[in-house]
Amino acid sequence: MKLPLPNVEDKQSIGLMGGTFDPIHLGHLVTAEEVRIKFALDKVIFVPSGHPPHKVARDVSTPEHRYLMTVLATITNPYFNVSRVEIERTRAERTYTIETIRFFHQFYEGKANLFFITGADAILEILTWKDYHELLSICSFIAATRPGYSLSKLEETIGAVCPEALYNIYIVEIPAMAISSTFIRNRVSEGKSIKYLTPEAVTQYILKNGLYSVAKPQYKTPLSSDTKNKNHKMK
Ligand code: ATP
Ligand code: MG
Repeated sequence: MKLPLPNVEDKQSIGLMGGTFDPIHLGHLVTAEEVRIKFALDKVIFVPSGHPPHKVARDVSTPEHRYLMTVLATITNPYFNVSRVEIERTRAERTYTIETIRFFHQFYEGKANLFFITGADAILEILTWKDYHELLSICSFIAATRPGYSLSKLEETIGAVCPEALYNIYIVEIPAMAISSTFIRNRVSEGKSIKYLTPEAVTQYILKNGLYSVAKPQYKTPLSSDTKNKNHKMK
């Protein structure tokens, strides 16, 4: 893996980690922390996605639930922040990653080095984005390998699809963490423990609000009633 050149301009280096985070888990957190240290980032900003498109295969938890779980999970790390930029858009104004990156580029007035952190599975999609040339000029990409993704194969594929992109995409190997949000959601719906897969506060938040489960929430909270799944609705 090549690392970026030393930061001679003394600009801030900022990692952006986008995701659905339904829920956030240790795979996301380990990746962000590993990348922060390796790339000497000043901070990592987690950006939970907004409303999913109308037709999605499953009922995604509300943006507010996903935002709060992300805050709970990152609160003990002084280098981690969470942005509301995507979740504040209305359903009609659904955001795309490209707009989010433009937003941060403008926000920092081009004075920060931006690194978009993503799983190796998602990086290839970037190369199919319409405006990816513009993106590569305002932001670098860090593709973190997930278990089952071969580093050299990924590099080969990127090279074949878009050789110039290789200059702005860093591939990093993350300690194998075969955790996914899907795995966690499935375990909750089967009534199995999710301890140690996500921070304890997130586990408690999931149970309290009855997320991913047909069981009733443990407590009544205002947020419980706005989950899309009727089974989660408070009576
Ligand atoms: P789902 O199972 O619902 O697809 P997920 O676990 O993939 O969820 P996302 O919110 O879709 O989580 O992921 C956000 C980003 O984190 C993506 O770029 C994804 O590739 C990356 N990511 C997810 N899990 C891991 C992991 N275990 N190790 C490294 N990166 C991960
Ligand atoms: Mg995913």
